[in-house]
Amino acid sequence: MKKRNLDTVCIQAGWTPSKGEPRVLPIYQSTTFKYDTSDQMGRLFDLEEEGFFYTRLQNPTNEAVAAKIAELEGGVAAILTSSGQAANFFAVTNICGAGDHIICSSAVYGGTFNLFGVTLKKLGISCTFVDPDCSSEELDAAFQENTKLLFGETIANPANVVLDFEKFAKAAHAHQVPLIVDNTFATPINCRPFEWGADIVTHSTTKYMDGHAVAVGGCIVDSGRFDWTACAQKFPGLTTPDESYHGIVYTERFGKLAYITKATSQLMRDLGAIPSPMNCFLLNLGLETLHLRVPRHCENALKAAQYLEGHEKVAWVNYAGLKGNPYYERAQKYMPGGTCGVISFGLKGGRETSVSFMDELKMIAIVTHVADARTCVLHPASHTHRQMTDEQLLQAGVAPDLIRLSVGIESAEDIIADLEQALAAV
Ligand SMILES: *Cc1c(COP(=O)(O)O)cnc(C)c1O
Repeated sequence: MKKRNLDTVCIQAGWTPSKGEPRVLPIYQSTTFKYDTSDQMGRLFDLEEEGFFYTRLQNPTNEAVAAKIAELEGGVAAILTSSGQAANFFAVTNICGAGDHIICSSAVYGGTFNLFGVTLKKLGISCTFVDPDCSSEELDAAFQENTKLLFGETIANPANVVLDFEKFAKAAHAHQVPLIVDNTFATPINCRPFEWGADIVTHSTTKYMDGHAVAVGGCIVDSGRFDWTACAQKFPGLTTPDESYHGIVYTERFGKLAYITKATSQLMRDLGAIPSPMNCFLLNLGLETLHLRVPRHCENALKAAQYLEGHEKVAWVNYAGLKGNPYYERAQKYMPGGTCGVISFGLKGGRETSVSFMDELKMIAIVTHVADARTCVLHPASHTHRQMTDEQLLQAGVAPDLIRLSVGIESAEDIIADLEQALAAV
């Protein structure tokens, strides 16, 4: 069958009811599932048979939504997590342990920067942060004997740096490690990282996928393309027997599904960061309109960026969809249909003026969120990134005066009118 268009996948994928079943994905609000014999249940525990027995491991609602996101990204399997943080934590620790090393672009979400730089370090996993625009030689030089993966964001939150996919994929594969890409800001509507060499994709579904700011969630999708057995000694968790599963070797038993199966049967079993079926149902409603909302976010953001760029009180505007932006060409290459709805900019008055401008906004709210239907702003240096030193802020691409404007899907005219009256007041 011909591959379905993404617009159709957004609506139809994941749940295909048969005769007499609900048309809409049901919420299986149940922790447990019933079997007739003890032996039937035993086979599920041994991963001998597929089936549901306990929601921490699998739930039909959650699974349908994971399948939809896997299809949207063009992957072979996916797992949903209770947050984007949990998704990135699982994506890394599924193939890394104490004594291992990872490499990450320095232009990433503040939460990811802390997770990798501080919390993983306490667990014995070290991380080298590299300038995403470093040369191929510099990137190569960051690899060590014990490096297990390379990590970046399609469009960095909030620095708006567009990932040089080809450079990152080439370096990762030359060193026989997977490239993991957090595709939260672009979404598969604008960019499908597997088409550009990424092996694993993660999401904070809290953002555009949900789109209405109702449920925190995350997702990991595997392309199924990375050959773990080609460098088996690097990934013993996947290529040698798992004693907690009677000696199963994930790559032997599950082939292309090895990585996601291990994440479910080991990490989810032991760490338990599952989303509730109710939240998965809400995420699914969001996904049903993702293909309509994302283009509108981009269209409004471009209008807002162009307006800000032309305003005398605005010092700078950073939006990869704007001609003249350093990442414009790269964005055109990897996401010709649009980038995202998030703009960053600074005012000529500097940090203080940026803060008072935000206080003057009327419709646009100050919230710790991005990428939902309502336009909102945040000052990372005072909020999400406030634990960082000025030096770390600059390394992460966050200027002290940076205002992050997440453009929603209201009327562009009304969004600009609110910006205009606040600019007039400062
Ligand atoms: C928000 C965000 C995260 C963290 O996700 P949560 O759902 O808030 O845990 C990770 N990566 C990116 C790019 C984000 O924007």
